[in-house]
Amino acid sequence: MEEFDFESRIVSPTEIMGENDSDNPLRPRSLQDYIGQEKAKQNLAVFIEAAKQRHECLDHVLLYGPPGLGKTTLSGIIANEMNVNLRITSGPAIEKPGDLAAILTNLNEGDVLFIDEIHRISRAVEEILYPAMEDFAIDIVTGKGQMAASYHLPLPHFTLVGATTRAGQLTAPLRDRFGVSLRLELYTPEELARIIRRSANILHIAIEPDGALEIASRSRGTPRIANRMLKRVRDFAQVLSDGVITLSTAQTALERLEVDELGLDANDRRMLTALVKFYRGGPVGLETLAAAIGEEAVTIEDVIEPYLMQIGFLNRTPRGRCITRAACLHLGLEINDTSDGQIRFTE
Ligand code: ADP
Repeated sequence: MEEFDFESRIVSPTEIMGENDSDNPLRPRSLQDYIGQEKAKQNLAVFIEAAKQRHECLDHVLLYGPPGLGKTTLSGIIANEMNVNLRITSGPAIEKPGDLAAILTNLNEGDVLFIDEIHRISRAVEEILYPAMEDFAIDIVTGKGQMAASYHLPLPHFTLVGATTRAGQLTAPLRDRFGVSLRLELYTPEELARIIRRSANILHIAIEPDGALEIASRSRGTPRIANRMLKRVRDFAQVLSDGVITLSTAQTALERLEVDELGLDANDRRMLTALVKFYRGGPVGLETLAAAIGEEAVTIEDVIEPYLMQIGFLNRTPRGRCITRAACLHLGLEINDTSDGQIRFTE
């Protein structure tokens, strides 16, 4: 069966190389410019204000939610609002305990350390993180056997901001060491339209409100996808018309990019079709589905599924994934096109 390429498609919520450089002008720098996520934002504003009043560091913050929703952006905002520096690293980049020790000992008092994909740090590295988070100190052992010596090294006070796609992937001791835990939700089309209008303004792109809303409704609840689509639609508007993104240029451009009105592309359609054709709409286990479409289970779970579930196209049941009637209707799939003529919808 044909292999799908979920990573390089326009509707992928994960980063494409160079897209998210730290000087990305589209990243909001203050809480006020950060659109949506009202609940997380309001709580965070209180915690930041309280910490500032006490002249303390902000407690460690865990951000969780699907990729592209603004976790890295929020860590930059925290550093900005606290008037401190931001250090960015990621779980897979910290290979050895020594790598983390080097990062920690180079922090300045009050700094924010952002660790993306924090669920991917190794056990050995995690052991260093515990005392660092709790006591702002690390214990370093040098030498072996009788020559072994242990040093207790105090660290500057810092705020760890950890990001993960799912909080459940973290070990309990690590999770417990975060004082603040914020869940980021997929954005509504109206919020995404505001983000698109803000980005268009920064990039000097002329866009009409219904053009922005059209791109927003096809952006799968994800600002990263919305910003990427805005840039691609601009190309079409520039070459095919007068450069202004209107409702009709947005529609034409997104049709040419093969993204439908709900933000589904050919890969989504093939996955959902496979669910109907090979598994009678489900339930089918995640691993089986992953093998059938040549994709990793974790990519399906973290990257593809959240949006399909949010729009009510896919259900997660204890026995596996099930397609919904709404998805079949949207895709024009023959609901009776299975050997026993039945799909048992779960909704
Ligand atoms: P994550 O770290 O969760 O993968 P990022 O913080 O890198 O996501 O955000 C991806 C892009 O989306 C950023 O470049 C930023 O421009 C934009 N973005 C994310 N959240 C918001 C928001 N709330 N308001 C405006 N733009 C946002």
